[in-house]
Amino acid sequence: MARTLRFVHLFPELLNLYADQGNLSVLMSRAKLRGIDAEIVPIKLGMKIDFDQADFVLLGGGSDREQAIVGKELLAYRQDFLNAIDGGLPLLAVCGGYQLLGEYYELPTGEKVPGLHLLEMTTRAGGQRLIGNIAIEWIKSDQGPKKTLVGFENHGGRTIHDYPPLGTVVKGYGNNGVDRKEGVQYKGIVGTYIHGPLLPKNPHLADYLIKNALRYRGFTDELDELDDQLEWRAHQRVLDRMQVTQSH
Ligand code: GLN
Repeated sequence: MARTLRFVHLFPELLNLYADQGNLSVLMSRAKLRGIDAEIVPIKLGMKIDFDQADFVLLGGGSDREQAIVGKELLAYRQDFLNAIDGGLPLLAVCGGYQLLGEYYELPTGEKVPGLHLLEMTTRAGGQRLIGNIAIEWIKSDQGPKKTLVGFENHGGRTIHDYPPLGTVVKGYGNNGVDRKEGVQYKGIVGTYIHGPLLPKNPHLADYLIKNALRYRGFTDELDELDDQLEWRAHQRVLDRMQVTQSH
């Protein structure tokens, strides 16, 4: 049976900070290069969301204002979203989108932007924004030729949770600048503060997400090798700029 994947982008007009939708372009082209039929399905504010039709969901980053609008909109779909996640729906949630998976994001004023409470996780805005390039060691470090994930972060929020993180911070801030954890990796969820977008410089994570989506749809998750020399050079360039020497 021909393999077909639908990559859903929730609210591209609001959640696309630092070109987060570039993540979907990477998934699309890496799927197509393997002969997998794929399409991006943008769901704009006010459109009906049917999680059964999604093989993968992207929740990108946004400003506090945009985050609050999206939080309100998604609340009506909370149970559907939760069911899909319990069933293993692959989800990439970046920065503001990542914060939305938790209970709330507390603004500097003390006001709380409600999250979807899909995870036991809270975020509070701190004094100084956490900005810069970041390198982490991915907990699934057996997934490719490099153990690291690289990119850029810019967030005021400090996130706390007890789930396995996406990785351990090698350089940068991560979830809160204190516990050296970055992101979350739980069921099909990959949550992260890494923008940039994340996937062009991290092809091993891109393939991991494609495999998850294929498995979720009941297809074989075998993927042909691609020539990723350029992608790895870009990855290595970030490590070099940050003077991270471990490039295993
Ligand atoms: N509310 C977020 C913050 O902590 C949004 C940031 C983002 O998505 N880049 O600043």
